[in-house]
Amino acid sequence: MQITNDVESLRRARALAGVCAFVPTMGNLHEGHLSLVRLARRHAPFVAVSIFVNRLQFQPSEDFDRYPRTFERDCRMLEAEGVSLLFAPDEKVLYPQPQAYRVAPPAIADDLEGRFRPGFFVGVTTVVLKLLNCVQPEVAVFGKKDYQQLMLIQGMARALDLPVRIVPGETVREPDGLAMSSRNGYLTPAERAEAPRLSRLMREVAGGSLTPEGAVQELMGHNWKPDYVEVRRREDLGVPTSDNREKVVLAAARLGATRLIDSLEF
Ligand code: AMP
Repeated sequence: MQITNDVESLRRARALAGVCAFVPTMGNLHEGHLSLVRLARRHAPFVAVSIFVNRLQFQPSEDFDRYPRTFERDCRMLEAEGVSLLFAPDEKVLYPQPQAYRVAPPAIADDLEGRFRPGFFVGVTTVVLKLLNCVQPEVAVFGKKDYQQLMLIQGMARALDLPVRIVPGETVREPDGLAMSSRNGYLTPAERAEAPRLSRLMREVAGGSLTPEGAVQELMGHNWKPDYVEVRRREDLGVPTSDNREKVVLAAARLGATRLIDSLEF
Protein backbone atom coordinates (compact mmCIF):
# COMPACT_ATOMS: atom_id res chain seq x y z
CA MET A 1 0.00 0.00 0.00
CA GLN A 2 1.36 3.35 -1.01
CA ILE A 3 0.86 6.18 1.48
CA THR A 4 0.81 9.75 0.20
CA ASN A 5 0.51 12.89 2.28
CA ASP A 6 0.48 15.50 -0.44
CA VAL A 7 -1.49 16.11 -3.61
CA GLU A 8 1.49 16.00 -5.97
CA SER A 9 2.55 12.45 -5.08
CA LEU A 10 -1.10 11.41 -4.94
CA ARG A 11 -1.55 12.59 -8.53
CA ARG A 12 1.62 10.75 -9.61
CA ALA A 13 0.30 7.51 -8.06
CA ARG A 14 -3.10 8.02 -9.67
CA ALA A 15 -1.56 8.65 -13.10
CA LEU A 16 -0.09 5.13 -13.02
CA ALA A 17 -3.31 3.47 -11.86
CA GLY A 18 -6.40 2.62 -13.89
CA VAL A 19 -9.99 2.81 -12.73
CA CYS A 20 -10.13 3.82 -9.07
CA ALA A 21 -12.74 3.36 -6.35
CA PHE A 22 -12.37 5.65 -3.35
CA VAL A 23 -13.45 5.47 0.31
CA PRO A 24 -13.06 8.70 2.30
CA THR A 25 -12.84 8.29 6.10
CA MET A 26 -11.79 10.10 9.24
CA GLY A 27 -9.79 7.07 10.40
CA ASN A 28 -10.14 4.98 13.57
CA LEU A 29 -11.30 2.30 11.20
CA HIS A 30 -13.77 -0.47 12.01
CA GLU A 31 -15.65 -3.19 10.11
CA GLY A 32 -18.06 -0.60 8.71
CA HIS A 33 -15.21 1.18 6.93
CA LEU A 34 -13.73 -2.15 5.80
CA SER A 35 -17.07 -3.22 4.31
CA LEU A 36 -16.95 -0.05 2.19
CA VAL A 37 -13.40 -0.94 1.12
CA ARG A 38 -14.61 -4.40 0.05
CA LEU A 39 -17.53 -2.84 -1.83
CA ALA A 40 -15.10 -0.44 -3.52
CA ARG A 41 -12.96 -3.40 -4.62
CA ARG A 42 -15.99 -4.82 -6.47
CA HIS A 43 -16.02 -1.64 -8.58
CA ALA A 44 -12.31 -1.24 -9.29
CA PRO A 45 -9.08 -3.16 -8.78
CA PHE A 46 -7.40 0.03 -7.52
CA VAL A 47 -8.90 1.09 -4.18
CA ALA A 48 -7.90 4.39 -2.59
CA VAL A 49 -8.79 5.36 0.99
CA SER A 50 -8.33 8.71 2.66
CA ILE A 51 -7.91 9.44 6.34
CA PHE A 52 -8.54 13.06 7.24
CA VAL A 53 -10.24 14.47 10.32
CA ASN A 54 -11.95 17.44 8.77
CA ARG A 55 -11.98 20.42 11.13
CA LEU A 56 -14.44 22.24 8.83
CA GLN A 57 -17.29 19.90 9.79
CA PHE A 58 -16.83 20.17 13.55
CA GLN A 59 -18.47 22.88 15.66
CA PRO A 60 -16.08 24.57 18.11
CA SER A 61 -17.92 22.73 20.93
CA GLU A 62 -17.52 19.31 19.28
CA ASP A 63 -14.94 16.55 19.58
CA PHE A 64 -12.38 17.55 16.91
CA ASP A 65 -9.43 17.48 19.32
CA ARG A 66 -10.34 14.24 21.03
CA TYR A 67 -11.55 12.45 17.86
CA PRO A 68 -9.71 9.08 17.98
CA ARG A 69 -6.59 9.01 15.80
CA THR A 70 -5.14 5.51 15.33
CA PHE A 71 -3.08 5.88 12.19
CA GLU A 72 -0.69 2.90 12.57
CA ARG A 73 -3.52 0.49 13.31
CA ASP A 74 -5.61 1.91 10.45
CA CYS A 75 -2.68 1.37 8.05
CA ARG A 76 -2.35 -2.26 9.09
CA MET A 77 -6.09 -2.84 8.55
CA LEU A 78 -6.05 -1.22 5.09
CA GLU A 79 -2.91 -3.13 4.15
CA ALA A 80 -4.63 -6.39 5.11
CA GLU A 81 -7.57 -5.45 2.85
CA GLY A 82 -5.22 -4.99 -0.10
CA VAL A 83 -5.86 -1.26 -0.43
CA SER A 84 -3.60 0.24 -3.12
CA LEU A 85 -3.33 3.83 -1.94
CA LEU A 86 -3.84 5.71 1.29
CA PHE A 87 -4.13 9.49 1.10
CA ALA A 88 -3.53 10.96 4.54
CA PRO A 89 -2.94 14.67 4.12
CA ASP A 90 -1.98 17.05 6.90
CA GLU A 91 -4.40 19.83 7.57
CA LYS A 92 -1.97 22.28 5.91
CA VAL A 93 -2.18 20.27 2.67
CA LEU A 94 -5.97 20.48 2.30
CA TYR A 95 -6.35 23.83 4.04
CA PRO A 96 -3.14 25.80 3.37
CA GLN A 97 -5.18 28.87 4.17
CA PRO A 98 -8.62 29.18 5.74
CA GLN A 99 -11.09 27.59 3.31
CA ALA A 100 -12.87 30.68 1.98
CA TYR A 101 -14.54 28.85 -0.96
CA ARG A 102 -17.15 26.42 0.30
CA VAL A 103 -19.97 24.34 -1.15
CA ALA A 104 -23.45 25.78 -0.53
CA PRO A 105 -25.70 22.72 -0.08
CA PRO A 106 -29.49 22.93 -0.50
CA ALA A 107 -32.00 23.63 2.29
CA ILE A 108 -32.26 19.98 3.38
CA ALA A 109 -28.72 20.43 4.78
CA ASP A 110 -30.20 22.66 7.50
CA ASP A 111 -32.71 19.99 8.54
CA LEU A 112 -32.14 16.85 10.71
CA GLU A 113 -28.35 16.78 11.40
CA GLY A 114 -28.05 20.34 10.16
CA ARG A 115 -30.52 21.57 12.77
CA PHE A 116 -28.22 20.37 15.54
CA ARG A 117 -24.87 20.83 13.80
CA PRO A 118 -25.10 24.14 11.91
CA GLY A 119 -22.64 24.25 9.02
CA PHE A 120 -21.91 20.52 9.27
CA PHE A 121 -22.87 19.72 5.68
CA VAL A 122 -21.05 22.77 4.32
CA GLY A 123 -17.93 21.28 5.92
CA VAL A 124 -18.68 17.75 4.72
CA THR A 125 -19.55 18.60 1.12
CA THR A 126 -16.59 20.98 0.84
CA VAL A 127 -14.05 18.41 2.04
CA VAL A 128 -15.60 15.63 -0.05
CA LEU A 129 -15.46 17.82 -3.16
CA LYS A 130 -11.80 18.58 -2.42
CA LEU A 131 -10.97 14.92 -1.79
CA LEU A 132 -12.74 13.86 -4.99
CA ASN A 133 -10.77 16.49 -6.91
CA CYS A 134 -7.53 15.28 -5.35
CA VAL A 135 -8.09 11.55 -5.87
CA GLN A 136 -10.21 11.77 -9.06
CA PRO A 137 -11.83 8.36 -8.61
CA GLU A 138 -14.37 6.86 -11.02
CA VAL A 139 -16.39 5.54 -8.04
CA ALA A 140 -16.69 6.76 -4.44
CA VAL A 141 -18.35 4.77 -1.67
CA PHE A 142 -20.28 6.26 1.27
CA GLY A 143 -22.15 4.53 4.11
CA LYS A 144 -25.91 4.60 4.62
CA LYS A 145 -25.40 5.06 8.36
CA ASP A 146 -24.81 8.72 7.55
CA TYR A 147 -27.87 8.78 5.33
CA GLN A 148 -28.32 12.52 4.97
CA GLN A 149 -24.62 12.88 4.19
CA LEU A 150 -24.88 10.20 1.49
CA MET A 151 -27.92 11.94 -0.01
CA LEU A 152 -26.26 15.35 -0.07
CA ILE A 153 -23.09 13.94 -1.64
CA GLN A 154 -25.13 12.16 -4.32
CA GLY A 155 -26.98 15.43 -4.91
CA MET A 156 -23.74 17.40 -5.11
CA ALA A 157 -22.24 14.95 -7.60
CA ARG A 158 -25.29 15.32 -9.84
CA ALA A 159 -25.73 19.07 -9.46
CA LEU A 160 -22.06 19.89 -10.02
CA ASP A 161 -21.56 17.27 -12.79
CA LEU A 162 -18.79 15.53 -10.88
CA PRO A 163 -17.32 12.72 -13.00
CA VAL A 164 -17.78 10.14 -10.26
CA ARG A 165 -20.37 7.51 -9.42
CA ILE A 166 -21.48 7.58 -5.78
CA VAL A 167 -22.13 4.08 -4.43
CA PRO A 168 -23.98 3.54 -1.12
CA GLY A 169 -22.77 0.91 1.37
CA GLU A 170 -24.98 -0.88 3.92
CA THR A 171 -24.56 -0.15 7.63
CA VAL A 172 -22.46 -2.69 9.52
CA ARG A 173 -23.73 -3.36 13.05
CA GLU A 174 -22.49 -5.02 16.22
CA PRO A 175 -24.31 -8.29 17.01
CA ASP A 176 -26.64 -6.36 19.36
CA GLY A 177 -27.65 -3.95 16.57
CA LEU A 178 -25.52 -0.92 17.48
CA ALA A 179 -24.23 0.67 14.27
CA MET A 180 -20.44 0.57 14.25
CA SER A 181 -18.91 3.99 14.72
CA SER A 182 -15.58 5.48 15.67
CA ARG A 183 -17.45 7.33 18.42
CA ASN A 184 -18.64 4.06 20.06
CA GLY A 185 -15.21 3.96 21.70
CA TYR A 186 -16.22 6.95 23.84
CA LEU A 187 -18.99 4.93 25.55
CA THR A 188 -18.50 3.73 29.13
CA PRO A 189 -19.32 0.01 29.68
CA ALA A 190 -22.74 0.97 31.11
CA GLU A 191 -23.45 3.26 28.14
CA ARG A 192 -22.27 0.58 25.72
CA ALA A 193 -24.82 -1.82 27.25
CA GLU A 194 -27.56 0.82 26.83
CA ALA A 195 -26.52 1.95 23.33
CA PRO A 196 -28.39 -0.74 21.27
CA ARG A 197 -31.67 0.76 22.47
CA LEU A 198 -31.41 3.36 19.70
CA SER A 199 -31.39 0.87 16.81
CA ARG A 200 -33.97 -1.31 18.60
CA LEU A 201 -36.42 1.60 18.81
CA MET A 202 -35.67 2.54 15.20
CA ARG A 203 -36.61 -0.99 14.12
CA GLU A 204 -39.88 -0.63 16.04
CA VAL A 205 -40.58 2.69 14.29
CA ALA A 206 -39.78 1.09 10.92
CA GLY A 207 -42.07 -1.83 11.77
CA GLY A 208 -44.91 0.52 12.69
CA SER A 209 -45.27 -0.57 16.33
CA LEU A 210 -43.84 2.71 17.68
CA THR A 211 -44.12 6.34 16.59
CA PRO A 212 -41.01 8.52 16.26
CA GLU A 213 -42.37 10.62 19.16
CA GLY A 214 -42.75 7.43 21.19
CA ALA A 215 -39.11 6.57 20.47
CA VAL A 216 -38.01 10.03 21.65
CA GLN A 217 -39.98 9.54 24.91
CA GLU A 218 -38.46 6.08 25.44
CA LEU A 219 -34.95 7.44 24.91
CA MET A 220 -35.54 10.30 27.35
CA GLY A 221 -36.87 7.79 29.87
CA HIS A 222 -33.53 6.00 29.73
CA ASN A 223 -31.40 9.12 30.18
CA TRP A 224 -30.69 9.75 26.53
CA LYS A 225 -30.82 13.27 25.09
CA PRO A 226 -32.40 12.66 21.68
CA ASP A 227 -31.86 15.31 18.98
CA TYR A 228 -34.36 13.72 16.60
CA VAL A 229 -36.03 10.49 15.56
CA GLU A 230 -37.81 11.04 12.25
CA VAL A 231 -39.34 9.13 9.37
CA ARG A 232 -38.60 10.66 5.96
CA ARG A 233 -38.91 9.83 2.28
CA ARG A 234 -35.79 8.09 1.03
CA GLU A 235 -35.54 10.01 -2.24
CA ASP A 236 -35.15 13.54 -0.85
CA LEU A 237 -35.58 13.22 2.94
CA GLY A 238 -38.79 15.22 2.70
CA VAL A 239 -41.70 14.53 5.07
CA PRO A 240 -43.45 11.47 3.59
CA THR A 241 -47.05 11.39 2.43
CA SER A 242 -49.26 8.30 2.37
CA ASP A 243 -48.09 7.68 -1.24
CA ASN A 244 -44.46 7.28 -0.23
CA ARG A 245 -43.45 3.67 0.21
CA GLU A 246 -39.68 4.02 0.36
CA LYS A 247 -38.89 5.53 3.71
CA VAL A 248 -36.05 5.81 6.19
CA VAL A 249 -35.88 6.33 9.95
CA LEU A 250 -33.15 8.78 10.90
CA ALA A 251 -32.07 9.35 14.48
CA ALA A 252 -29.43 11.12 16.51
CA ALA A 253 -29.21 11.05 20.28
CA ARG A 254 -26.70 11.76 22.97
CA LEU A 255 -25.85 9.09 25.53
CA GLY A 256 -23.69 10.68 28.22
CA ALA A 257 -21.00 12.61 26.35
CA THR A 258 -21.37 10.60 23.12
CA ARG A 259 -23.61 11.54 20.22
CA LEU A 260 -24.77 8.52 18.21
CA ILE A 261 -26.49 8.63 14.83
CA ASP A 262 -28.13 5.90 12.83
CA SER A 263 -30.55 5.34 9.94
CA LEU A 264 -32.70 2.48 8.79
CA GLU A 265 -34.44 2.10 5.44
CA PHE A 266 -37.84 0.46 5.31
P1 AMP B 1 -16.26 8.37 9.08
O1 AMP B 1 -14.86 7.84 9.23
O2 AMP B 1 -17.10 8.22 10.30
O3 AMP B 1 -16.28 9.76 8.49
O4 AMP B 1 -16.96 7.44 8.00
C1 AMP B 1 -16.38 7.21 6.74
C2 AMP B 1 -17.37 6.46 5.89
O5 AMP B 1 -17.71 5.23 6.52
C3 AMP B 1 -18.70 7.20 5.70
O6 AMP B 1 -19.14 7.01 4.36
C4 AMP B 1 -19.61 6.54 6.68
O7 AMP B 1 -20.97 6.61 6.31
C5 AMP B 1 -19.10 5.11 6.62
N1 AMP B 1 -19.47 4.35 7.82
C6 AMP B 1 -19.33 4.74 9.11
N2 AMP B 1 -19.84 3.79 9.93
C7 AMP B 1 -20.30 2.79 9.15
C8 AMP B 1 -20.94 1.54 9.40
N3 AMP B 1 -21.19 1.12 10.64
N4 AMP B 1 -21.29 0.77 8.34
C9 AMP B 1 -21.04 1.18 7.07
N5 AMP B 1 -20.44 2.35 6.77
C10 AMP B 1 -20.07 3.15 7.79
